[in-house]
Amino acid sequence: MAIEVRTASALGFCFGVRRAIEMVEAAADEQGPIDSLGSIVHNPVVAERLQRRGVGIVPGFAGVTSPRVAITAHGAGPEVYRTATSGKLDLVDTTCPIVARAQRAARRLVNSGFKVIIFGDEQHPEVRGVLAWTRGRGVVLADAADPVEIPRRKVALLSQTTKSQHAFTDFVARFLELHIDRINEVRVINTTCPETEDRYEAARELAREVDLMIVIGGRNSANTGKLAGTCRAAGVETYQIEREDEIQRGWLEGRRVVGVTAGASTPDESVTAVVRRIKQLDPTARRKEDTARAG
Ligand code: SF4
Repeated sequence: MAIEVRTASALGFCFGVRRAIEMVEAAADEQGPIDSLGSIVHNPVVAERLQRRGVGIVPGFAGVTSPRVAITAHGAGPEVYRTATSGKLDLVDTTCPIVARAQRAARRLVNSGFKVIIFGDEQHPEVRGVLAWTRGRGVVLADAADPVEIPRRKVALLSQTTKSQHAFTDFVARFLELHIDRINEVRVINTTCPETEDRYEAARELAREVDLMIVIGGRNSANTGKLAGTCRAAGVETYQIEREDEIQRGWLEGRRVVGVTAGASTPDESVTAVVRRIKQLDPTARRKEDTARAG
């Protein structure tokens, strides 16, 4: 029997990334070249396509050569807006509305006297952006047990959008367990992203039904790495790839059902190409062809 390929019920580009790509492509078509401050998506296939449309990627303002710059879906801090304005650069702001909501919450809460604590990875551009809106009155914790000062006994807890709700719930519970004696007031703002949650859940469900999982996405995409980790945690052999030509025939030997999912930065065409490649490499289908030829 030929290998059956199943794709996750939610996979690939999230709403925020789709929107960001459409915005920069439309702006490049209408107004000319744009320099994006960082990667619009952590995916080499999309980065190449955007480059051909006139959207370059620069690490910061020092590398900007065009009269317009784009802020990615991950968002940015207030200083980026100020620099763009003072440099008289046109701004294409593709900040995802869900990230923008977290930024507004951070700003509002510090204005109300809260210490803002962001559960996440301090190196992640989205987290750096949200932190910048706290104007020095926020901190990023990767773990609830990390040391933190709570000077005014008012604490607000936010999450990096791509953290799972489960992880954020655990973080909040542990944080309160450790620090409740130093706190009078707590606000918990659930800034996790439902799109991300749907992808983890769909990957987990699919991983339970298949013999092998293939997860597509950029190697530097944290979200793709976490999807692969979710599949492995469900107990299924899992490979993370960027392109369909990385799939090895040996991976498919003896498999009946192969599952495919993709990180939030993976375009639909990469998913289609991977499914096609699995079918091409299917050892069962090849054996049938050989038998037919021999017959
Ligand atoms: S993962 Fe969620 S928060 Fe992040 S860009 Fe996509 S839709 Fe927005």
